[in-house]
Amino acid sequence: MKKLVLAADLGGTNLRMAVVGEDGEILHRVRGTTPPNRTRGEVLGLIQDLAAQCIRETNSGTVISGFGIAAPAVVDQSRGVIRAAPNLPDLNGFAISDDLAERLKLPVILENDATAAGIGEHWRGASKGFDTSICLTLGTGVGGGLIVNGQPLRGIDGTAGEVGHVCVEPFGAPCGCGSVGCLEQYASATAVVRMARLLKAEYPSSEIDTDGVLTSLDIYNAAVNGDAMAIEVFRLFGFYLGVAIGGLVNVLNPEVIVIGGGASDAWPLFIDTARDEMVRRAFREPAERVKLVRAGLGDDAGILGVAKLAFQS
Ligand SMILES: [Zn+2]
Repeated sequence: MKKLVLAADLGGTNLRMAVVGEDGEILHRVRGTTPPNRTRGEVLGLIQDLAAQCIRETNSGTVISGFGIAAPAVVDQSRGVIRAAPNLPDLNGFAISDDLAERLKLPVILENDATAAGIGEHWRGASKGFDTSICLTLGTGVGGGLIVNGQPLRGIDGTAGEVGHVCVEPFGAPCGCGSVGCLEQYASATAVVRMARLLKAEYPSSEIDTDGVLTSLDIYNAAVNGDAMAIEVFRLFGFYLGVAIGGLVNVLNPEVIVIGGGASDAWPLFIDTARDEMVRRAFREPAERVKLVRAGLGDDAGILGVAKLAFQS
């Protein structure tokens, strides 16, 4: 009988779930909107409904042997407890694995979403075949997943891999984490908008209207069309990303750094600057070795990462 698992990626806006086979093939997928009030009961109810839907719509003659869930949170992975979820605060301190195991009658495994993406890319994506890798997700914020000697590095409190909160500017922009100058404030979609607003005074001829509603996509499009201010925003993005990567390369000596997330679509606008800055700062040997590559799995990286864990457990 074919062995399958259910895998879910819980986000601040969407919950995505899929039935995954042992080779990482996605056999069925569903999606729901994270309930607006984001209460514990509503989120769990949605997970339960989507899981039931997945099981119903999957061919009979198969057996679902486990459930994996990736959460935007600091997690106690071994105990299946959400320690802190800034975007879903009602889940803080919640033993979600035990609760879901009871509801779904399946063993449940929990993982941080960025670490899950790193595991997914290592299993089926751009870092497959490499023992030591860093997976960076450049989206609204910046997530990091570390794989060292083939194993996820979680740290003693489950906070390892928070690359988005590496300081790249000691007296820089305040960050939601309470520190200042974190990478997330310089190399994310939010950062692109923030930096454009700051630069406007220096670029009065830029056609970007920084007073109105502004998205990172507006700035990306302007950069592609040659707007000097927009180009400078992405140069800064690459510079700060390179500062962080240079430090990571010296600390971890990875074979590959996988870069994904929505903001990585601007790759041609920032990657050369990032690579140059990394080379300028890192030791020569690890800087020459490390490959900077685009993620291979898109939005499925986290789902595949927790699917892999569910198969292993
Ligand atoms: Zn921070």
